[in-house]
Amino acid sequence: MSQDKKKSSGAAALRSLPSVERLVTSAELDEARQWLGRGWITETARRVVQEEREHRGRGGSPRDPAELASTVLARCRSLRFGGIRRVVNATGVVLHTNLGRACIDRELALEAVEAARGAVSVELDLATGERGNRYESVQRLLGALTGCEASVVVNNNAAAVLLVVNTLALGKEVVVSRGELIEIGGSFRLPEILVGSGAVLREVGTTNRTHLADFRKAIGPSTGLLMKTHTSNYRVEGFTKTVSARELMALSAETGVPVYEDLGSGSLADLGRYGLTPEPTVQQVVASGIPLVSFSGDKLLGGPQAGIIVGTRALVGRLMENHLLRALRTDKLTMALLERTLAQYLDPKGPSALIPTHQLLARTPEELRGLAQQVLAGGRLERLDAHLLQDRAAVGGGACPTDTLPTWTITLAHDGSGADDLAARFRARETPVIGRVKDGKFCLDMRTVRADDVGELSSALGAVDRELGGAG
Ligand SMILES: *Cc1c(COP(=O)(O)O)cnc(C)c1O
Repeated sequence: MSQDKKKSSGAAALRSLPSVERLVTSAELDEARQWLGRGWITETARRVVQEEREHRGRGGSPRDPAELASTVLARCRSLRFGGIRRVVNATGVVLHTNLGRACIDRELALEAVEAARGAVSVELDLATGERGNRYESVQRLLGALTGCEASVVVNNNAAAVLLVVNTLALGKEVVVSRGELIEIGGSFRLPEILVGSGAVLREVGTTNRTHLADFRKAIGPSTGLLMKTHTSNYRVEGFTKTVSARELMALSAETGVPVYEDLGSGSLADLGRYGLTPEPTVQQVVASGIPLVSFSGDKLLGGPQAGIIVGTRALVGRLMENHLLRALRTDKLTMALLERTLAQYLDPKGPSALIPTHQLLARTPEELRGLAQQVLAGGRLERLDAHLLQDRAAVGGGACPTDTLPTWTITLAHDGSGADDLAARFRARETPVIGRVKDGKFCLDMRTVRADDVGELSSALGAVDRELGGAG
């Protein structure tokens, strides 16, 4: 009996489903018709009605047409406008992989876009009118900046590793220390990349200690490459021994097996000036004679995503002949951004004045404190409890893993809401604000807040504060 009743009320619920047509023509969707073709709205409405039918079929309580229409509107909006959005990085992590790593200077980005808007001379030699070399101007800049004989650029540093290994060690062994079999951000795992590139991984040494003798013993007729990798996101400390690329050079001279160093972030500028542990710059590594070196474009270099390979004419020449290069090549926009970023290193003002990543690294604690005060002054808080605190934050992007930089944060607390709740409220803003949670507190770290984010951040603070009032 009650079964029958349930069945018939279910059938009634299905009969009362609004039609797709009714949703599409409802007043709620007027605005969507301004920016989304009617066919796309109809298709979205059809899916929402179908989901509602299934929901009611499972005995779920019916949603009214207005609610369904607003679901359709939200779906339409995210289809049309839901791509990559600007967010405020208040995490303090300068090179945040999930937030797109290096930020590009506005003027530089506009120039590059302007260049790419129409036809560009990416592969045309303007002097002769003949087919040119896509890499030429970047090669000239890298030659000047790093002292390398030759260079080539691919989509990212992972692609650089793939190209090098595939070219020099296809079907052969790549000898790597067990202390350097890195994983970067989940998807880059060196052993998998090496094998995927067609090489055989030959691990030597142990996690904490590898000796030159370990490499020497591994070399045989099937050895293709000796590889050194920057342990970008960790350090092995204590009883340790690593073999430098310089030391591998001696073995290379004896055996003729080439040496390649994956520098990870790689920097053209001295990091000591920012209070970070100094590491050899790319130009110092090149000068030390390592014949092949690769690094990322969007880490400490401060440019677009790219993998930059510098080395000897002979080895880079072999890379240029590999047909895989065609599959890994960068587009005109990346080349335009990279050229201009590299050219900024030649400017007398220097990278810390011109390149956003370096501007962020160069900021002093006093500047960051001033910024925090400016943000707070614009916020007018009544419910949120805000404190300015001194803290330290990581650089990110697999650079300087054990270093932190001094910073100032606005640390927020509210009686009724936990840190994760506050984080979600800031993320839900039209321009999402991404902070970090530390010791159970939500904080906005000023290291990565740019001067033109200040207004946005103040209004986010004010809005979340008012919202908390509304929530009781
Ligand atoms: C970051 C990193 C990579 C990957 O570089 P992408 O440019 O992200 O592809 C490879 N090797 C090392 C050592 C790294 O630090």
